[in-house]
Amino acid sequence: MIKEMLEQINIPLLNVRIKKEAYNKIIAEAIASPGECSGFGMIKMIGDTFEIYDIVVPKQINTRASTTIDPDDLVSIILELDEQGKTTEDWHCWWHSHADSNVFYSGTDEDTIANVMNYFSKDYRYLVSIVVNKRCEITARIDIDIKAADNYYIRVTHYVPCQIGDAL
Ligand SMILES: [Zn+2]
Repeated sequence: MIKEMLEQINIPLLNVRIKKEAYNKIIAEAIASPGECSGFGMIKMIGDTFEIYDIVVPKQINTRASTTIDPDDLVSIILELDEQGKTTEDWHCWWHSHADSNVFYSGTDEDTIANVMNYFSKDYRYLVSIVVNKRCEITARIDIDIKAADNYYIRVTHYVPCQIGDAL
């Protein structure tokens, strides 16, 4: 049933690219942080590619195996952007580091992805999630809700290699 629906709605093949400068910022955070760390990223759609062009690193509490963003600091970042006439509408990337562990999506990560997805409006619900570690390993996935019928969305998770570098 789901398979036929997916075929019917013709899921596009999407790619993820992270600009060199944004990648360098993430890796610098991952290496400097004793444990995990996390933040958000800004995305621009270029053709069929989600390009992460910058990142933010809010204040956070990190341990060896967890990372929690300070909600008050997040609010002040958003208010500051608002004063500059900017919004968070292109913040469709969540990235975090697993420190010395492998890059994969844990049960906690699945919950975080589902929670972050809920912040986006129903017709524009997608998130690029990046996991890195101190060995500079990186993995990416795209979660996207695709409208299949009135008020009925299918969540598709698309695992993709993460290209690093700037567009030609
Ligand atoms: Zn994780």
